[in-house]
Amino acid sequence: MKKIVVAGAGGFIGGHLVKELIKKGNSVRAVDLKPLNEWYQVSGDADNLVLDLRLRENCYKAVNGYNEVFNLAADMGGMGFIENNKAACMISVLINTHLLLASKDCGIDRFFYASSACVYNGEKQTDPHNPGLIESDAYPALAEDGYGWEKLFSERMCRHFREDFGLTTRVARFHNVYGPCGTFDGGREKAPAAISRKVIEAGITGKKEIVIWGDGLQTRSFMYIDDCIKGIQDIMYSNIEEPLNLGSSEMVSINQLVDIVEDIAGYKLNRIYDLKAPKGVRGRNSENTLIKKYLGWEPSIPLRKGMKKTYNWISEQVVDESRRKKGYNKFNK
Ligand code: NAD
Repeated sequence: MKKIVVAGAGGFIGGHLVKELIKKGNSVRAVDLKPLNEWYQVSGDADNLVLDLRLRENCYKAVNGYNEVFNLAADMGGMGFIENNKAACMISVLINTHLLLASKDCGIDRFFYASSACVYNGEKQTDPHNPGLIESDAYPALAEDGYGWEKLFSERMCRHFREDFGLTTRVARFHNVYGPCGTFDGGREKAPAAISRKVIEAGITGKKEIVIWGDGLQTRSFMYIDDCIKGIQDIMYSNIEEPLNLGSSEMVSINQLVDIVEDIAGYKLNRIYDLKAPKGVRGRNSENTLIKKYLGWEPSIPLRKGMKKTYNWISEQVVDESRRKKGYNKFNK
C-alpha cells in the first residue's frame, strides 16, 4: 500500500483517479480548492482536504508524509473558458511549481503532471485532416495562448526537477477527456458534454435547434475517462521520462460528434453555426506511435460507446435539475 496525494481531486479526472487508487488498496489524500460539497465525487475512504495549492505552505501540508503525487489541479475549462481567462490559466503555474518544491523537500518518490495537447505548436494544427501530433511537435514552441504556455512551462519544470534534483517526474499530454462526473454546464464544459447537454435540453424544451461553435468542420479526438485513468497510472509507473501523448486517435469533426449524440438521443436538430464563438485550432489528433511502443497500449474505447455513457449521465443530471426547478416553482406559487 502506498500513500498517494491527488491534487485536483474534486475535479473530473481527479475524482475518478482517487476512486481507482483506493480500489487498488492505496491510502489516498484527496486535495482540492473547492468546498467539499462541490466536488464531483467524494470518496469517504480518502483523507479529503480543502486547500488552495497556489500557496506554497499548503503544498507542504498536502504532500508531507506521503510517497507519490498526482497533480491534476488547474484553473481550466473548455475553449470558451481558456480563450477568455488566459491570466487565470497561467496562474496554475503556482500550483505545479509549489507542489514540485514541496515534493522535492518532503522526499516524494514519484510525481505525475497532467499536461495537455494545448502545448502543441498552433501552426501544426491548421488542417482539419491532421495526421496526428507527435510529441516533438511541441517545438519550436507556439502553444495555445495562456493555458498552453503554462502547461509547456510546467512540463519543463518537471523535467528540470528530475535532472537537477533527482525527483522522478512523469508527464502525460491529455487530448480531450470526457465521461460521467465532469463539467457539463456553467462555461467550463468541453464539446462532448456541451453538445450532449444542448441536445438533451432541446429534447426537454421541444426546441428544434442546436447552436454549434464554429463551422462544425474543425476536428478533434476524444478520450473516454477509463482510458485516461489507465494511461495516467501506466505512465506514472513507467520509466518514460519525456512527455507522452495520452489521447485517442479516433479523430472526428464536431459535426460528426453532433451526429453521434443525435443518434443516441434518437432525434435530429437544425444546426446553427456560431462563427464568432471560440473554436480553438482547426484540426487536432493524437499520434500514438510512442505510447504503443513504450506501453504496448493506446486509448481505444470507441467514441460512440463512451458518449452513450456520458450522455446518459448528463441526461440524469439535466432531468434532475429541471425537476428540481419545477418543484421549486410550484412550491413558490
Ligand atoms: P477539472 O476542472 O474538473 O479539475 C481540476 C480541479 O483542480 C478542480 O476541481 C479545481 O477546483 C482544482 N483546482 C483549481 N485550482 C486549484 C487550487 N489553487 N488548489 C487546489 N485545487 C485547485 O479538470 P479536469 O478535466 O479534471 O482536468 C484535470 C487536469 O487535466 C488539469 O490539469 C487539466 O489542465 C488537465 N487536462 C484536462 C483535459 C480534459 O479534457 N479534461 C485535457 C487536457 C489536460
